[in-house]
Parts: sequence; structure tokens; C-alpha cells
Amino acid sequence: MTASNASSQTLANDTLEAPAGDTVYTAVIPGLDDTDLKRYSLRSPASGDVIAEISDCGVAQARLAADNAQRGFEAWRKVSPFERAALLKAWHRAVIDAKELLALTMTREMGKPIKEARGEVDYAAGFLEWYAEQAKRIDGDILPSQHPDKRLSVLRQPVGPVLAITPWNFPAAMITRKVAPGLAAGCSVIVKPAEQTPITAILLARLWQQVGGPAEAFQVITAERPAEVSDLLMDDARIRKVTFTGSTPVGKHLYAKSAATMKRMSLELGGHAPFLVFDDADIDSAVAEVMASKFRNGGQTCVCANRIYVQRAIFDTFAERLAAAVDDLVVGEPESESTQVGPLVSQAGRDKAQSHIDDALASGAKRLTREHDVEGFFVAPTVLSGVTAGMRVMQEETFGPVAPLIVFDDEDEAVRQANDTPFGLAAYLWTRNLGRATRVSEALDYGIVGVNDGGPSTPQAPFGGVKDSGLGREGGRYGIDEYLDTKFVSTRLDR
Ligand code: NAD
Repeated sequence: MTASNASSQTLANDTLEAPAGDTVYTAVIPGLDDTDLKRYSLRSPASGDVIAEISDCGVAQARLAADNAQRGFEAWRKVSPFERAALLKAWHRAVIDAKELLALTMTREMGKPIKEARGEVDYAAGFLEWYAEQAKRIDGDILPSQHPDKRLSVLRQPVGPVLAITPWNFPAAMITRKVAPGLAAGCSVIVKPAEQTPITAILLARLWQQVGGPAEAFQVITAERPAEVSDLLMDDARIRKVTFTGSTPVGKHLYAKSAATMKRMSLELGGHAPFLVFDDADIDSAVAEVMASKFRNGGQTCVCANRIYVQRAIFDTFAERLAAAVDDLVVGEPESESTQVGPLVSQAGRDKAQSHIDDALASGAKRLTREHDVEGFFVAPTVLSGVTAGMRVMQEETFGPVAPLIVFDDEDEAVRQANDTPFGLAAYLWTRNLGRATRVSEALDYGIVGVNDGGPSTPQAPFGGVKDSGLGREGGRYGIDEYLDTKFVSTRLDR
């Protein structure tokens, strides 16, 4: 299929298919005339080949999406919560039914190993199911009054049209975690997906429409230059809320911009997660969970273990077992069923992770794992010991398959080092001492703490950070609050 073939383009837009060759994918904006719209080429991070052509929207399309979102909001807010719930449930079913297609699409777009991609579809669908149920539980309050003739009530109403800006590392789940509570609350949502993963977003919107979801309630605007689209929508006073997942510098920029139109903001930003292993821990289970936390998605998750602190008495044993497990990882083509670590998403991502390894080795760290014969965007999964505070790997989020090990002596030192960062998203601790588990989990300045648990994220729990890791929470009953305003109505009965 070619970008210039109009009939193929229509076919690609009307059907659900995984990207292959230069299939054309068009932004999902009712009324969009894409005849003269520019497109950008999407390349596979594994092969470098062009896998699709994507609408490259600008200010005109952003304005159209905002007009639609305003109309969409006026209509959608009047749909009963029970009907909204039924549509979200149907969408959940459709996403599960399209699991293979969505998984393969993510694998081709951003290099996530296919088995993990299937897991992400289940995780993403979990938000649709959970918020379908939650839509029926947006209730208010009746407050007691000093006056017999007054009635005081508290209503919870949708904030209005929402802009959701999402990253590439979880192309489906970062969308459903925002869109599901937004739609459940009665908001309309425009998603601006990452430029690397637009097709998953487009497919999710098509599935929404296939089950009868109103097109103006959920739109997808794709763009190679995100700032142009986002600047227009940030300046548009009709957009009442922005929910962003991505890097801290972009999050801060959007937060500053939001002041002009006083938008509600949710910001899920970068992490730099510490993973503390105390000497009374079950070492094998700690190693297994570091493997899952650190090497999932090639280390490209905001909650992944980024600094692994191990108490001195068990350091050598832990390091040896972790290095052996890492040496067993299968690095390869993401579409292969046996692959555990695929390529990183981009040249920039690869260069950053590799530079963290090179900088640590040049500053005296030791590589405990074998070297791989890798090229392109691949980075060899690596464990480093002899890591010290000044190395880049300790200062910045690596977003790659690199596990730096640091030795510590006591609990206070471990907590101090863990908290010594501007970030505060997720932290982990491994111990069999209940008192220590309680003390340390309370002392860690993080939004999420896993106690003997390397994978705490789940749709019904609050997800989010403190400090430079952001504002607000997604998931669970906390997540829907971000899309609701509280209105107080005082009624006098005697007038
Ligand atoms: P990024 O900030 O570059 O991009 C994220 C999104 O913002 C993309 O959609 C991108 O197109 C858009 N964007 C980029 N520049 C923009 C601008 N000037 N104006 C408006 N939008 C803009 O981040 P990334 O490198 O793609 O993603 C990785 C980052 O996301 C990491 O720091 C990671 O920790 C973070 N992340 C956080 C969470 C979380 O829940 N806290 C989850 C996943 C990823």
C-alpha cells in the first residue's frame, strides 16, 4: 500500500490492521479533510524500515479537534452514567478481542517484545473495565444545615473537554488510563499520542467508534511536531484540563503554560526509582523482581528500578545471581516469541542508555555481565557494580536496560540515598522484617512504594509521583477525581 494510493488509504482508515509497509493512518478527528494534510513516516525501531505514513496535524486540525471536543462534551455530559458505563464495557470487550492486533502494532511501532505487548493490552483494557464500573459511582453529598429551610448539596460534574498527551513507552495503557476516567466522568477527550506510537492510539479510537462511542467524545490528533498542536490547545480556554505523561521538562513547560487559562493539570513525569535490598531479604525473589522491574520494556518504564542499593552482607551474592539472570536474557527481534529485551525506541534513547554505561565504566564502575554483539537501537542488558553518586547513571533516569548496584550499610543510609533525588515516583524495598518494611515505606518520599513487590501498578490503585515526578493521581477512585469539579448548591426553601 502506498501513501499516494487514495483507495488504499480509505481501506486503511476503515479497517483494523497492523502496520506493514507504508500503510496510511489518519488522525481520528470528525470533519477532518486529509487530502492536503502532510504526513510523516513512521520507522520500525528494530529494522529502521518505514512501517506507515501518519497524518501530521497542525494548528488547523487542532482547532477543529477543539471545536469537536466542545460539541462532544455538551452531548456526552448529558449521556447517563449507566449508558457511559455500557459503552466503556463494550470498548473493553472490543480491545480484548483485538489483543493480537494491538499487541503486534505496539511491537512494530516501538519495539516492545510481543509477549509484553499482549500483557500491556490486558493492563490497558483493565482501565476501561474499572472505569466502566466507576462511572455509576460518581455521587455527591447532602450536607446538614443550621437552617431548617436550607438544603446544602454537593454535586460532582465533569471538568469539560480534556487534552491528554501520552508517551510512547506504554502506547495503549497510558491512553486508557486517561481516557477511561475522563469519559466515565462525562468529559470529552482529545489524545495527542507520542509521535513514535500514533497507530495504537488510532486503533483504540476506531474500536471506540465501532462499539458506538460518539466520535466527538474521543479524538486522536497525531503530529510529528507536538508543540504546534499542543500550543494551540493549551491556549484554548475551552480545554479545561490537561493530563500529561512524559518527561519532566515538557511537563514543567505545560504546567507553566496552563496558568494563562487556569486549566486543571495532571502530570505523570519522570522517575528515578530506588530499589533497596536489605540483608534479611529473600535474595532470589529480590533478583526475580529486579529482573521484571528493570528489564521489562527494555528498562523504558518510568517506575523501573533505576538505582539498586544492596546491603553489604549480601551484596556479592546478590550481584552474582543478578548478573547470571541478566546474562540469560534473550535479546532480539521484538516480534519473536522468545525475545525478552528488544531494541530501544530511538537512536536518542539508545545513545542515552549507552552513554550511561560508558560514563560509569570510564569513572571506575565494573561491568558484571557479558557483552552482546548488538547494533541499531539495541543496548546490551548490563549490570554495573562499583557505582558512585556522581556518575550519570545515578543522576538521571536511564530509560534503558542498565542496572547499577550500590552497596549500603544501614537503614538510615539507605533511606537517605534513596530520597536524595528531585524525583519521587516509585520506590521498592526488600526485607522480611515487618517493622523495617513499615518504617522504610513511610520514610520514602515517593508516590508509590512496593514492599517485596516489584510490580505494584494496577487499575484500581492510585498511580503518580511527588516532587519533580508530577502532580495528581491516575487509577482507581482517585483517578476519576481529576476529571470532576465539585459544585456546592445551597437552596432556600422559604423564598
Ligand atoms: P516526552 O516528554 O518527550 O514526550 C511525551 C509526550 O509529550 C509525547 O506525546 C510528545 O509528543 C509530547 N511532547 C514533547 N514535547 C512537547 C511539547 N513541547 N509540547 C507538548 N507536547 C510535547 O517524553 P518521552 O521521552 O517520549 O517519554 C519518556 C518520559 O516519560 C520519561 O521521562 C518517563 O519517565 C516518562 N513517563 C512517565 C510516566 C508516569 O506515569 N509518570 C509513564 C511513562 C513515561
